[in-house]
Amino acid sequence: MTTYAGLLAAIQAPEGQGVEMIDPATGAVVGRAPQFGEADLDAAVATARYTQREWATTTHAERSALLDEAADAIEASAEALAELLSREQGKPLNGPNARFEVGACAAWLRANAAFEIAPQVLVDDESGKAVLEYVPVGVVGAIGPWNWPMMISIWQIAPSLRMGNTVVLKPSEYTPLSVLALGAVLNQVLPAGVLQVLSGGRELGARLTAHEDVDKLMFTGSTATGQAIMRSAADTLKRLTLELGGNDAGIVLPDADPEAIAEGLFWGAFINTGQTCAALKRLYVHESQYDQVCEALVDVAQRMPMGVGLDEENVLGPLQNRQQFDIVAGLVEDARAAGARILTGGDPEADQPGYFYPTTLVADIDNDHPLVAREQFGPALPIVKYTDLEQVIEWANALEVGLGSSVWGTDLEEARAVAARLEAGTTWINKHGAVDPRVPFGGVKSSGYGLEFGIEGLKSVALPKVTSW
Ligand code: NAD
Repeated sequence: MTTYAGLLAAIQAPEGQGVEMIDPATGAVVGRAPQFGEADLDAAVATARYTQREWATTTHAERSALLDEAADAIEASAEALAELLSREQGKPLNGPNARFEVGACAAWLRANAAFEIAPQVLVDDESGKAVLEYVPVGVVGAIGPWNWPMMISIWQIAPSLRMGNTVVLKPSEYTPLSVLALGAVLNQVLPAGVLQVLSGGRELGARLTAHEDVDKLMFTGSTATGQAIMRSAADTLKRLTLELGGNDAGIVLPDADPEAIAEGLFWGAFINTGQTCAALKRLYVHESQYDQVCEALVDVAQRMPMGVGLDEENVLGPLQNRQQFDIVAGLVEDARAAGARILTGGDPEADQPGYFYPTTLVADIDNDHPLVAREQFGPALPIVKYTDLEQVIEWANALEVGLGSSVWGTDLEEARAVAARLEAGTTWINKHGAVDPRVPFGGVKSSGYGLEFGIEGLKSVALPKVTSW
């Protein structure tokens, strides 16, 4: 078991060095993030390359056993990890937040340890035999965002290691300590050099994406950065998995029960205070249910406490950074100026130490308003009224992104028929954003490509290899 102080001491830069990380709830200094440079990155990739040769000779069973041990190590240090995550990222300990995220890290490791990926016999007859296997890609470069920094890192690390790759990971410059701490705990059990975490700025990420000795990139972040990465990776023809931005639509059908779905809608939109890739970011409600759904959502929203993450009563936290706060505040102010109705929230306190933006519900807003059409990535949900099912399906599909979506209604057949017509990697019914390590997850259109999780996720960090005789 590692304590909070022990964890921080093990990862942070010496006094007077590194970059200070600020708690977005209080403005207090959390710790000093080391800033690794290009030479450090080159050395890490060389180590990863060297180590990978031996790592690839271990069996699936041996690697799975190590992933299970890594999950044990996380569980043993869970509270220290959750506290650091809460202080640095801002999310509360309680609710579907920091403890939940650390728990998910252990769960994803165990799930990846348990998957079976057997060679596939494609032909076995008088003409001969052909077998398809999945072999390691080599060195995986991973780059992550700041919203779920530990969990998304594990989504990249667990399948990569399971398939016999080594990993060099560059966390977001907003949440490096959380990921360095996760790496330190995992490295209590992993062989040296198999997983290396290097904190630094965007240029370090750019160097990783262009590095001639990295074979595969796993990237989670914004669409704009995903595009830059694709360009940068072209020269070395790297394999890519890109999990990018979204603007998920949720459609409430006329037969939905507003009271029954209100809490699911709320958490679909406001999990992690809205800073979630596959959160419900624009809600379409049929006119026959509009007022009831709005009322039920206001009721849930006003019951959910927001505040400093280390206080146990809170289930919503601040925005992680000033830039994100300004984006959310700007979109809501524009909506207000355009005549939309603010049902709750919309008025952040002036002169507060943290980046708290109150839970905000915005009604009577046009579908083409920026709060609907752009990814707000924060606690402000636009609720758009619709009358015609064909029209709302068209609205839902009109954007360039397609990560998730959801349909809410009592008649499952009808909900499934609507779900089938939505352009998104995942469409949930009567829930939103519920990810499962066994179920492949990924976006369509500008939300990226490639799949994570499940057997498909393992295949995405491996090379298909056919042997025929
Ligand atoms: P971002 O794209 O700004 O940064 C992500 C990472 O990329 C950071 O580590 C950053 O340092 C690095 N980076 C920046 N420029 C780079 C470059 N040129 N080359 C290489 N690396 C570079 O994203 P963010 O603001 O941290 O995250 C929020 C976005 O991520 C949202 O759009 C959200 O929807 C998306 N996201 C998607 C998923 C998903 O699974 N699809 C999950 C979480 C977040």
